[in-house]
Amino acid sequence: MQDFSTCRPILNNSRRMLLLASSILLAACTTSTAQVSNGKAATATTIAANAKSVSQLDLDDPQDFKDATRGLIASPENIQIPSMADPQEYVWDTKAYNFIQGEAPDSVNPSLWRQAKLNNIKGLFEFRPGIYQLRGFDLSNMTLIKGDTGWIVIDPLTSKETAKYAYDFAMKHLANRYPDMSSNISAVVFTHSHIDHFGGALGILSQEDIEKNNIPIIAPSGFMEEATSENILAGTAMLRRSSYMYGKNLPRNEYGHIDSGLGKGPAFGQFSIIEPNILVGKTPTNLNVDGVDFQFQYTPGSEAPAEFTFYLPEYKVLSGAELVSRNMHNLYTLRGAKVRDALKWSNYIEEARTQFGDAEYYFASHHWPMWGKDSIQNFLKQQRDTYKFIHDQSLRRINKGMTPGEIAEDITLPPSLASEFSNREYYGTIKHNARAVYQNYIGWYDANPAHLDPLPDPQRASAYVKLAGGGSKVMEQAQTSYDEGNYRWAAEILNHLVFDDPSNMAARELLAKTYDQLGYQAESGPWRDSYLTGAKELREGTPDAGVEMSAMRDVFLQTPVSNFFDALSVRLKSEEANGLNTNLKVHFTDKNESYLLWIENSVLHYRLIDSTEATQKAVQTTLNLTHPLFVDLLIGKVTFKEMLSSADSKIEGNQANLITFFSLFEAPDPSFAIVLPD
Ligand SMILES: [Zn+2]
Repeated sequence: MQDFSTCRPILNNSRRMLLLASSILLAACTTSTAQVSNGKAATATTIAANAKSVSQLDLDDPQDFKDATRGLIASPENIQIPSMADPQEYVWDTKAYNFIQGEAPDSVNPSLWRQAKLNNIKGLFEFRPGIYQLRGFDLSNMTLIKGDTGWIVIDPLTSKETAKYAYDFAMKHLANRYPDMSSNISAVVFTHSHIDHFGGALGILSQEDIEKNNIPIIAPSGFMEEATSENILAGTAMLRRSSYMYGKNLPRNEYGHIDSGLGKGPAFGQFSIIEPNILVGKTPTNLNVDGVDFQFQYTPGSEAPAEFTFYLPEYKVLSGAELVSRNMHNLYTLRGAKVRDALKWSNYIEEARTQFGDAEYYFASHHWPMWGKDSIQNFLKQQRDTYKFIHDQSLRRINKGMTPGEIAEDITLPPSLASEFSNREYYGTIKHNARAVYQNYIGWYDANPAHLDPLPDPQRASAYVKLAGGGSKVMEQAQTSYDEGNYRWAAEILNHLVFDDPSNMAARELLAKTYDQLGYQAESGPWRDSYLTGAKELREGTPDAGVEMSAMRDVFLQTPVSNFFDALSVRLKSEEANGLNTNLKVHFTDKNESYLLWIENSVLHYRLIDSTEATQKAVQTTLNLTHPLFVDLLIGKVTFKEMLSSADSKIEGNQANLITFFSLFEAPDPSFAIVLPD
């Protein structure tokens, strides 16, 4: 089927043989904004549901718009940032979102539309004299604090392109305010280990600058490990699923992607990372950074596995990082990830509230700031209680024997929390977050033996279709349910029909129309994008989108090689390794590090060895190469054959064994089917 996305497969199968690391959350794909809309009009049911969902909200409340525009210094009319890899493409294009104005169209939940308008507000803002924010240049914010000798940069965005563009924009407009100040960066602070908060680092700084000028790079303990490994084992699946969550391939229009709740969406450019030279691993940690006092709160295992917040006592400013934001966050993220601990998260917010109780100003890594001690205290209590409410009330129901689906259906926030915009389900939802609490404590099994070993999906689908009296009966029922506005049931039975017979285009179209309506009703950006991406793929088929791994080169060069061997382990074609006892030594000549890889019981093992170790006597083949060559092999910049003939590699021992060894590993499938059986 036709693929409208601009992502392209750059690696053929043989090149992918060694692609150990297509396991990264974000791919360097950009989305065309000129796609043909498949959107269908909102039904009366959807229009009514949307009106009802916001009946308790004052959508005209101006406070957020005041806060989001306060202190504006300059706002570009449009921000269109070209890709470094392909200057014909934009990694960031705010023009695509200019249609988000005025009243919500029928095909968008009005509350999400409001959030999308707020997230459209962009520019350089003065938060406090000496503290400036760049918002709307990426999914996340870059914050600049004036130090004694230069600018302290908090969170340099997702990609090198957006970071450089944003920083240059700030310098252009701050130069006349601070004529005596250079545009030098005097420190960088990474608040947490998610790529939208560090990926642009090398766009504004070079490794040489850091070393030459002793620039402090400050991050929470565990940052490097988490940033480079968090998604490496299950990354291919996460990446494919993230195209659903963020609507990467959807058109930007009222029938497509409008917002992700947290911001517009990720910037898919060139990613990078810098190794921190100062780690913060306890609360409180006090540091003076280029003349500015910082008090850190270490919050690992909250929103990110390595994270901190901080307080600037001279300014009475609290930076909440991503511990708090102006939406309900994800305890479980739809792209797939380990679930987050709601109770821990809530407790950290309370710790921040009390520890930094003097705060009169608040900013964070997403969304717009807040002014006033009472407002900040109230906001922190609200966020604290949103996560604790979901935690406590999910467990209350778990202990009454309720199943995940029953809990998701039953639990709603109390009016005192639900009426606050900053708790609304723009990103996470209470339904999927309640399921996350179940998963965290109880796991996948609901204890009903009927669910212990059910037939797999395609078989179940066929059995249900047969039970219903055949496909035409299911279609009839589905059409009735659709006409009645019972979209959740229509989706259930049509999904069986499509899985029973994916060539049934009428069933696919009706299911797509059903998903359209469910998408239009969603207050959550990721829910909307998931439904609408499902609809798109039902109509057009599964896209053949590859993964542009070269965008991750700078990150991979900083990733411990053992992570790649872990990733290789989960690609072993175990059925072909039955009974094999084979090994390989990989020696990194520039690092003088050697690893022994061996297969035993259809399992790949590896360990660091030293050159004198006796086991080397049994080594069948040694592959000597440099770490950068190894990385280039992983990202497909060089082929396996080119690697073998490179001056930076040398094989010792049996070359045939090397080829056989690597033939035992398969490439993951970056474009697996989701709404279709295969
Ligand atoms: Zn973020």
